[in-house]
Amino acid sequence: MKKVQQQTPPWLKPLLEATFFDECQAHGNAKNNQCKYYCLQCIGNPFCACCLDDHQKHPTIQIRRSSLSNGVKTRDIGEYINLCAIQTYVANGKDIVFLNARPYTGRPCGVINTCAICHRSLPTADFKFCCLSCKRDAIYRGFPEETFTVEPKLNTCELNDNFQVNQLLAPERQQKIRKLDILVSKSTVMATSIAKEIPVNVSPTTPPMFNHMNSRKRKGIPRRAPLT
Ligand SMILES: [Zn+2]
Ligand SMILES: [Zn+2]
Ligand SMILES: [Zn+2]
Repeated sequence: MKKVQQQTPPWLKPLLEATFFDECQAHGNAKNNQCKYYCLQCIGNPFCACCLDDHQKHPTIQIRRSSLSNGVKTRDIGEYINLCAIQTYVANGKDIVFLNARPYTGRPCGVINTCAICHRSLPTADFKFCCLSCKRDAIYRGFPEETFTVEPKLNTCELNDNFQVNQLLAPERQQKIRKLDILVSKSTVMATSIAKEIPVNVSPTTPPMFNHMNSRKRKGIPRRAPLT
């Protein structure tokens, strides 16, 4: 439990429980007075665009409304929290994640992939949770693979470039790079296992069928003589 608290940012719970898009009390007459900003340093109430000046050097995020639910651009929040395994959606051309689970009715037919916590159907099989709060709940329930800890900013291309350059550098530097390399391959493994993961309440999967036809390598495929 202690580990869970350590890796959960202090602003997450207040953010998930906050009410957005109310009118700002301080800027009732202003045009942009909807409280749709949140300061991850002050961890207070949401505020409007006019209040942004008070948080100039603070990490702030803007909440977006999509399908009547609150989301945040992955680009905005991704540097403060690990969004791995959370379903992303496109809103106004930008990737967002939803803050909280959205209500839904029933489980549509033929849906295989659902949120591991609230069982809402997910459009793609690459994700386990429909929103930030479902991932938070998973971490609290002890899902071993999930984390909110942000890994160092790396992408494979950058790493490969660096690796080539750094091969000529001091051994300790090389070691560092190698560590990063391991990190990246670890996250790849994680992503793969995520894709294979099944929701918790579903009975264990049957082992994959062993294909005897393919496993036996025949020397030659009997061919029929062409019909005359
Ligand atoms: Zn304001
Ligand atoms: Zn602030
Ligand atoms: Zn969910």
